[in-house]
Amino acid sequence: MPVLKRFLKILGYVIIATLLTAMGIALLNQPKSLSNTSKSLTLDAAYRQSIANTALEHLAQATTYRIVGYDDANNDSINHNSILAFHAWLKRTYPLLAARANWEVINQHSLLITLKGSSKEAAAMFIGHMDVVPTPDSAQWKHGPYSGRIVKDTLWGRGALDDKNVVIGLMEAAERTLALGLPIKRTLLFGFGHDEETGGSHGASAIAQHLIKHKIPVAFISDEGFGVMKGIVPGLKNDCAIIGLSEKGFVSVKLKVKQLGGHSAWPNPENATAILSKGLSKLEHHQFASNLEQPVRGLFTEAAPYMNFGYRLLFSNLWLTAPLVKMVLQGGEKTAATIRTTHVTTIMRAGNKENVVPPTAEAIVNLRLFPGHSIAAAMDEIKDVLNDPRIEISTYAEGREATPVSAANGDGYDQIKAAIQANFTETVVVPGLVITGTDCKNYTAVTNRMYRFVPFEFSASNLSSIHGINEHITRKQFGKGVEFYMDLFQRL
Ligand SMILES: [Zn+2]
Repeated sequence: MPVLKRFLKILGYVIIATLLTAMGIALLNQPKSLSNTSKSLTLDAAYRQSIANTALEHLAQATTYRIVGYDDANNDSINHNSILAFHAWLKRTYPLLAARANWEVINQHSLLITLKGSSKEAAAMFIGHMDVVPTPDSAQWKHGPYSGRIVKDTLWGRGALDDKNVVIGLMEAAERTLALGLPIKRTLLFGFGHDEETGGSHGASAIAQHLIKHKIPVAFISDEGFGVMKGIVPGLKNDCAIIGLSEKGFVSVKLKVKQLGGHSAWPNPENATAILSKGLSKLEHHQFASNLEQPVRGLFTEAAPYMNFGYRLLFSNLWLTAPLVKMVLQGGEKTAATIRTTHVTTIMRAGNKENVVPPTAEAIVNLRLFPGHSIAAAMDEIKDVLNDPRIEISTYAEGREATPVSAANGDGYDQIKAAIQANFTETVVVPGLVITGTDCKNYTAVTNRMYRFVPFEFSASNLSSIHGINEHITRKQFGKGVEFYMDLFQRL
């Protein structure tokens, strides 16, 4: 007993000493201020204004091309004419690029544009998508989603932020680079898919296969993802730019129960719906393990020096505070989704007649997998949680694992980070995890360096308009994004 007592006492001292040291370190270090040394491309004010003006006009025209991804539809045939018209418009609008770059149409509808550089290094690839999500509530929009209306420096239209802004931003920057006679050292590849919103299996995946088949080396890929945002990292006052190193996996699991049906006047004590409901309730009360490994760990350790005291203390000592940090992050849906695999029931089916006990009941549970957490492991865990052999478990449709985590340094990451620091001053740049899907998942065999970031400052109203109503972007926002890409091209 005295030995145990002494041990506990020593352990207590160690914990207090560690906490005091951690607090001391945090206290001594005031929040780091940003002294971004990276210089941006020098363009005079009038030229920058002209970029912003023409770029927004072009983006407005681009949003009038309806390339819409519907679930359960043959989008390729629905969109065929608009896609080809959009290709022709791009060539007309960017004549220097049309003349100097090699344009290839991949799988009838997607585009691969190669702008050869002077160096023999592997190419830098920039991808975006030409398709958009539907607008079922278009009557609620301030201006028609395909009208291309610019009102007082703001463009309203589907695709203004997802993802025609990236496609046009890149084209605009490349055209201006050629017009100014700026050097292009590394070959630039632009891959524009036509079906990202429905998985990219016809577009991005065909472009990736083309690159592999023709042995075209790609050093890194830049794709859509987070932008420059305020207030998304707790405790951080500065704007924050997150470079997504990975995206979560996706799988839907089907749970099915078969029992005797029959007349509702003499039901069995446990019928299919009751068994399934109990299982779903058990699942709802279960959470997959939280994880503070990369890419999430990098986000907090890199942001910590710029945070206020409390958060700095918490996030710069993850070796000690991880359990507490996990608790804080589990408190919000979005932050919880960044640290673990999530699951939610999205479809339930049983019965079709009020006086018949349904012989089968089924539910679809959608999972978003944290990097490193495989579909098989998640399914095993669900089976253990349900612990009921009467519930059959299978995958509903083909899932996809989370993408590998790209390195948070080196080729691609370093240049993107430097360009952010040069063009968006007072912005903290950190790595992160994208919790939705992008076309990058189709390129995992092309390169293991994939960085998801869009060079646009997002306001709260911008964020809620993506995939929602009144999608919009301002002249200033868009102009700055084009300048970012021009600057980035010069760093490659
Ligand atoms: Zn998108």
